[in-house]
Amino acid sequence: MLPVNFRSFRRKLTLHRKAFRSFLRKTGKTPPRGMDSITSQTEPLVWKEVDCLSCANCCKSMTPTFTKQDIKRISAHFNQTPEAFIKQWLKKQDGDYINKKMPCQFLDLKTNKCTIYEIRPADCAGFPHLSKRKWSDYTHVHIQNIEYCPATYKMVEKLIPIIEGKETK
Ligand code: SF4
Ligand code: SF4
Repeated sequence: MLPVNFRSFRRKLTLHRKAFRSFLRKTGKTPPRGMDSITSQTEPLVWKEVDCLSCANCCKSMTPTFTKQDIKRISAHFNQTPEAFIKQWLKKQDGDYINKKMPCQFLDLKTNKCTIYEIRPADCAGFPHLSKRKWSDYTHVHIQNIEYCPATYKMVEKLIPIIEGKETK
């Protein structure tokens, strides 16, 4: 597995953004037959090619949402009350608790590892949600994530030839 090449990711995204977003919108609105099974089979192929430890762009440039359970679990780990944890690290946006700052305070910037990996927010554990949920329920999120996440980009790059018979280079 090669490290994520951000220059190449950005270049390809600029070239294919419009087509990839259109594919996501189309398959979200009218999923092709067997789409969820196709995405389940495709996701493992993505992870054979994308090494998150060479990237960590989600932890550097996006924020997870923290559920009440996440806040309870993580604050207890630091011997803090949930209120103190919220005050120190989080803010509310559209009804959700999110990080005040980026990169995430729990990211070790030297190793790209999450320092609370075992107890990280559920949103982080599921990210980038490539096939665990119904494809059509999540394409609006993939449209946002494709801007930051090389794995999401790779997933769409692999799906387009399967669904539309076109290669993307
Ligand atoms: S909690 Fe861990 S996995 Fe989640 S954004 Fe922060 S560093 Fe990344
Ligand atoms: S999930 Fe996406 S953005 Fe996050 S580290 Fe992996 S490839 Fe990078």
